[in-house]
Amino acid sequence: MITYFQERNIMIEELVDISDYSKGKNCSVIISLSVYYPTADRDNLLTKKYVNEMTKILQNVLDDKLLWQVFKDSNHGPMIFMGLDDDAISLKKLMAYFEDNHVLGKWMVIEVFDNINHIIITRMMAGISERKCVICGDSLKKCSQGEKHSVFDIIREINRSYVEYKEGIELF
Ligand SMILES: [Zn+2]
Repeated sequence: MITYFQERNIMIEELVDISDYSKGKNCSVIISLSVYYPTADRDNLLTKKYVNEMTKILQNVLDDKLLWQVFKDSNHGPMIFMGLDDDAISLKKLMAYFEDNHVLGKWMVIEVFDNINHIIITRMMAGISERKCVICGDSLKKCSQGEKHSVFDIIREINRSYVEYKEGIELF
């Protein structure tokens, strides 16, 4: 089982790589986006749908702050990186709002990289409470480290959220 925190670590490494690659491209913040999917079989139709839909939503919301984007498809599954001209802390707050409230966003792992100071912005730095488990509402750290929910239950919920989104019962 791949835990949420393992997923985060993978994305943070990818983000640092992208920030090297993007040197010379002017942007004050880079965000990364992937789906939390608990198995090795991560490059599948569902994760692609999640990333595609979430990308469209963020493009609309970020609008003219968005300077460039790079899509990366690997064994790890689909991921997208966006370079922006914005305040890193405000952006972290906005992304955490999506993670906490949006029907698709709650399965996304969105990291915010301050490309001026070269640091990952954490929830704590932005004054936001820690992330909750989507399934039971308890501390995500607790559920994730204790592997409280089965792979089967998590994947079922990821599927269910996508159906809910498609049916237009948006909770956003
Ligand atoms: Zn839980």
